[in-house]
Amino acid sequence: MAVPTPLRRCFDYLPGHERPENGWCSGVRVRVSLGRRQVVGVVVDFRMDSDVERHRLKPIEALLDQTPLPADWLWLCRFTARYYQHSLGDTLANAMPVLLRQGRPLEARTRTRWFVTERGHTTPPEQLGRARRQAELLAVLQQHRQGLVASAITAQGFDQAQLRGLREKGLIDGKSEWLAAPDSRHGPVLAEPALTLNREQSDALSALHEGLDRFHPVLLHGVTGSGKTEVYLQLIEAVLERGRQALILVPEIALTPQTLERFRRRFSVAVVTLHSGLNDSERLDAWEAARAGRARIIIGTRSAIFTPLATPGVIIIDEEHDNSFKQHEGLRYHARDLAVVRAQHHGIPIVMGTATPALETLHHAQRGDYRHLRLTRRAGNAQPAMMQLVDLRGRPLRGGLGPQAIKAIGEQLDAGRQVLVFINRRGFAPTLSCHECGWISECRHCDARLTLHRQPHQLICHHCDSRMAVPDACPSCGSADLRPQGAGTERTEETLAEAFPDTPVLRVDRDTTRRRDALEQTLARVRRGESCLLVGTQMLAKGHHFPHVTLVVVVNADGGLYSADFRAMEHSAALLTQVAGRAGRASHPGRVLIQTHHPDDPGLQLLIEQGFDALATQLLEERRIARLPPYRYMVLIRAEGQNAETLQSVLSEGTEALRGWLQEQSMTVECLGPVPAPMERRQTRWHAQVMLTAERRSALHRATAWLDEWLSRHPDSRRLRYSIDVDPQEM
Ligand code: ADP
Ligand code: ZN
Ligand code: ZN
Repeated sequence: MAVPTPLRRCFDYLPGHERPENGWCSGVRVRVSLGRRQVVGVVVDFRMDSDVERHRLKPIEALLDQTPLPADWLWLCRFTARYYQHSLGDTLANAMPVLLRQGRPLEARTRTRWFVTERGHTTPPEQLGRARRQAELLAVLQQHRQGLVASAITAQGFDQAQLRGLREKGLIDGKSEWLAAPDSRHGPVLAEPALTLNREQSDALSALHEGLDRFHPVLLHGVTGSGKTEVYLQLIEAVLERGRQALILVPEIALTPQTLERFRRRFSVAVVTLHSGLNDSERLDAWEAARAGRARIIIGTRSAIFTPLATPGVIIIDEEHDNSFKQHEGLRYHARDLAVVRAQHHGIPIVMGTATPALETLHHAQRGDYRHLRLTRRAGNAQPAMMQLVDLRGRPLRGGLGPQAIKAIGEQLDAGRQVLVFINRRGFAPTLSCHECGWISECRHCDARLTLHRQPHQLICHHCDSRMAVPDACPSCGSADLRPQGAGTERTEETLAEAFPDTPVLRVDRDTTRRRDALEQTLARVRRGESCLLVGTQMLAKGHHFPHVTLVVVVNADGGLYSADFRAMEHSAALLTQVAGRAGRASHPGRVLIQTHHPDDPGLQLLIEQGFDALATQLLEERRIARLPPYRYMVLIRAEGQNAETLQSVLSEGTEALRGWLQEQSMTVECLGPVPAPMERRQTRWHAQVMLTAERRSALHRATAWLDEWLSRHPDSRRLRYSIDVDPQEM
């Protein structure tokens, strides 16, 4: 039995007096007691014997399912738990909708749809005489041959008595339908005609058509705006024609009503979405509709990879390089990687689309594991944007912007165009410092500086969210000369508003988009095309189309250049390329100004002169030489504790023991560390890490499991917490 606990083992229970109709089988949920708690567990195995003495075994207390949870789902969870070395019980709990986790039945909600009968259709409403409201309701329903759902009828002021009245007269009837994805398996697939593909797109589509009935992993590598989405849509059409389902994963931020609209407009089949904005019932409805096969297109963010599918036909990962596909806490899975194994399991195609492939994906494509399809030109007539480096050294800065950028912005605004200013830091300024003594606002709990915010006027730690009032005078020397250092979105917004008082400045960052529809409203305004300035963080770099933007200014490109994380340059280049792709999609060509203090950096120069692909090729070569992923597999063990010495000594002992064991086994796994984490002190705790790398996954996994076991048995293990991150994306 897998029960929701972090412990990496299963528990034995005796069968209770209830029994599923078709006998016990894996995937059935039950209620059991675990210690003093009552939990929902999932049956995963049967045995005639147990390591626990029989009289100490507890019986299953209640049976929650007559039929087991879907087999494809259970398979994926088992794989995930094994691969990421995580508790199966916790994995299952993570992968099911909250309501199932709480023990509710796997049932979706229904509603009633009312429609006129044959007789109701031919009966003139006037015949109803004095039943005036009934006559009005009949007239309304006569106009809706598809029927109306009860909520739409009551919204027009009618009530149950009137519905009942008409039904008793045999004029209308009601039928129950699913709330999510009412059955749509019959009838045409397309609701509007597809676009005529250009040459590159149609070549890509033909290649995809060849692999519809087997595992066919494809990297669809197309510049921003090259029409990848149109290719997905036409591929999905072919999948639907075969009576199968399509699962589409998109980055968190890209699942906008606009994206959905594109799918809903094209197809007449039921589309469901799975994202963090759903309430628990909606999520269960959508999950059930996918499992039952009524939902034919399922679009969701990361966790949607755990959606069961009755008739899987294709998996599509849009913006496959995006970091939001990796979960960075708890169960640290990567949805793209799971999607590949899942597609293999089902024997179906998987398409990974992006303009800036992750080096892992590119490596697979270069080795021939994945088919590599390219779209090199923008669809329609849009021209690629031109990138240019702007040297900031010795230039006066206003809100992070140099004179050249301000001048260029002014020119575009004068021409009535839109400008996007991209800055990777929210808040007003990254630090507050004293001009007299050099004091700097630092977090008391982390090795980090506090960011100055205007709204609310506070110093905030972006790592632990601790907050401090902004001091009037320097806490160290008493001087009143405290100055904000550097620029964040608030400050750039303020500068731009001063410099261009006649143009609306729209800011997009986590602080301005806390309300769900706030981002969508801003984007809708930008799409209308009036001249405006858009200031924002990387939220703006992902998947949105800004056809009227002709200039993009990147306030500072230097963040990724000298970081401890070996992926920093890759991420930074992908981000710059993505930001550049937002501009100049329509008739006006776009320009991108990239401000930097390191205009001679060879990486940046290669990116500007030859583009992302050339840089990626070089980065891959560097990784090969440095023996880093994707040339080696990696596991990171992160540990934290209140006491720095205990942390250090336990980890040192552990790695020492591991090295001894590896030698005994003559296994070639490299073990680095323990070393302090990049931010050693965070939330008042000390952080350190151990890195394991190997050429072979099996060896790496065995070594990880061994160290995990060793750590969990250590007498001091209660005093520290640790986690295992397989294929870590952040160091
Ligand atoms: P990507 O997903 O690669 O960024 P999209 O699929 O969003 O690109 O396409 C960019 C724009 O080009 C969209 O407005 C889309 O409607 C248009 N487009 C794509 N393919 C074609 C085509 N074959 N003919 C005309 N317009 C197209
Ligand atoms: Zn001071
Ligand atoms: Zn902090």
